[in-house]
Amino acid sequence: MIFRQLFDPQSSTYTYLLADEDTRDAVLIDPVFEQMRRDAALIGELGLALRWSLETHIHADHVTGAWLLKDKLGSRVALSAASGAEGADRYLKDGEEIAFGRSSLRVIATPGHTSGCVTYACGDQSRAFTGDCLLVRGTGRTDFQGGDAAQMYHSVRERIFSLPDSCLLYPAHDYRGLTCTSVGEERRFNPRLGDEIALGDFCGHMANLKLAHPKQMDVAVPANLRCGRPPTNAPPEVDPDWAPLAYTFAGIWEITPQALEEHTADTQIVDVREPSEFTGPLGHIEGAMLIPLGELQTRAGELARERPVVTVCRAGSRSAQAYNILRQAGFPRLANLAGGMLRWRAEGLAVKGGEP
Ligand code: FE
Repeated sequence: MIFRQLFDPQSSTYTYLLADEDTRDAVLIDPVFEQMRRDAALIGELGLALRWSLETHIHADHVTGAWLLKDKLGSRVALSAASGAEGADRYLKDGEEIAFGRSSLRVIATPGHTSGCVTYACGDQSRAFTGDCLLVRGTGRTDFQGGDAAQMYHSVRERIFSLPDSCLLYPAHDYRGLTCTSVGEERRFNPRLGDEIALGDFCGHMANLKLAHPKQMDVAVPANLRCGRPPTNAPPEVDPDWAPLAYTFAGIWEITPQALEEHTADTQIVDVREPSEFTGPLGHIEGAMLIPLGELQTRAGELARERPVVTVCRAGSRSAQAYNILRQAGFPRLANLAGGMLRWRAEGLAVKGGEP
């Protein structure tokens, strides 16, 4: 079995690639929209054919790459029948198997984080993918999307813990850098749901977490209920090759601060903030051209069309508008700086002016 654990740093999501070594048939569990190019490149390099993308549940913190992968690679989309999503090719029920080559995954219904959560277990019970039900030394939250602490308790104790102690468990997220655990390990050390913890203890704990709602929730949940199909129904028309860009659910190409730093020599950086911000405490990127958003329409002619343009603002939202203005003006190679100057600075990259 070919197995790869992939990570999306923006949402701390793990995506898992599994493939049959002989037939090269592959599945992806919990792909992330913005990571489609990375995933497609890896699948291509390993000589695999993506058959299915599988969701452990309707995520609230990122948009799934399922629809985009289907558009790009012809894979089919499968997720739990209890998820309530539309547009999937297959709706899974407890006990069903998803075959890829001579390998397979078995669906185990593990509601609690959401009412439609499932765990996928390898046919030989060597590995299982628990989504947001069981995390490494923790659990997913149970306070929205039909979450239910008592249900989660039973899902973990009666379903996941019925797998062998040696079975490795892979969660959908980790926020501390842990990548994997095992049934035996969680039974001993999970502070919320280990063998010693009673149902009442767990429910009391979960009722008092009082977490803020995920930032992406208002976009992610409706999008994931359509398997990640954007409202525009439009996949990216072009596949830019001048920098490692990521296509966002909002329909624009983004560049990370790191990637932009490596491409500053061959791009035009357009900072669309106000002049007082350009010279203010955040500073600006060396060589950036200042054209405030309100002036961009009339001043677009100052930019060279043959060179890539990267739009920049404080946090990445005004520059997304600037991106669209330039796209309408016919600029062929564009990217928006993800997270704007805030993320550029947070990643410790050099600025001109500004305060430390
Ligand atoms: Fe979740």
